[in-house]
Amino acid sequence: MQEKLHLNYHPGTDPKSFKAKIVNIEDNYLMFDNSYCFPRGGGQPGDTGTIKIGHLEEKLLETLPGEYIKHPVDSVEHFNLGDSITCIIDKLNRNRNAKMHTTQHIVSALAYDIFGAETVGNQIGPEYTRIDLKFPHRDKFNVEELESTFNEILSTKAPVNVYDWNRNTILSHEKMRHTNFLQRIPRSINKLRVVEIEDIDLCPCGGTHVGNIGILDDLIIKKVKSKGSGKLRISY
Ligand SMILES: [Zn+2]
Repeated sequence: MQEKLHLNYHPGTDPKSFKAKIVNIEDNYLMFDNSYCFPRGGGQPGDTGTIKIGHLEEKLLETLPGEYIKHPVDSVEHFNLGDSITCIIDKLNRNRNAKMHTTQHIVSALAYDIFGAETVGNQIGPEYTRIDLKFPHRDKFNVEELESTFNEILSTKAPVNVYDWNRNTILSHEKMRHTNFLQRIPRSINKLRVVEIEDIDLCPCGGTHVGNIGILDDLIIKKVKSKGSGKLRISY
């Protein structure tokens, strides 16, 4: 598995362009010897952007995960093995996803702390994000309370920190959330990335985040929809 270099960069906003060599071409995917692109995962869309080779510019479609990170383009015939390319990640798209994703951490944490609701699914998007919540008492959910608590929390300007912790530290930490998925990660991987929003949230996560919650936009919940017994889908 190729190392996900985006993990080494926090805050995950304003990603830099990078140079790489093409090491494989498969279907319409280019694989590079290194990549700082975020590949789709954990409900967050992959990076998009531009791939430059000489004077040619080709649109980079949504980056996908794989043994090697997959960089899809419309026309792979412009590229050959061993070519040196420059990849320019779409900053606006990445920054929006990082903001939406960090917002999701806070909303999920507050939904649990206020209403006891577990996050059972999410789909991040640069314009809209949805979170599926499972409540012990769904009728107690209150949109205004969630929005106003969120918006008050932004004024604390809490920093977002990342750590590389081992499995035991993560599983034994009393404030750690969302550890169920660790069972699906091979035991051979011991160190995992943990994301902390100080005094608000602490959980293992490989997504991209802002460095300080002060730059997030106010939460505006656009839609609340029933998703079956005890569950609601909220969109913001
Ligand atoms: Zn995250």
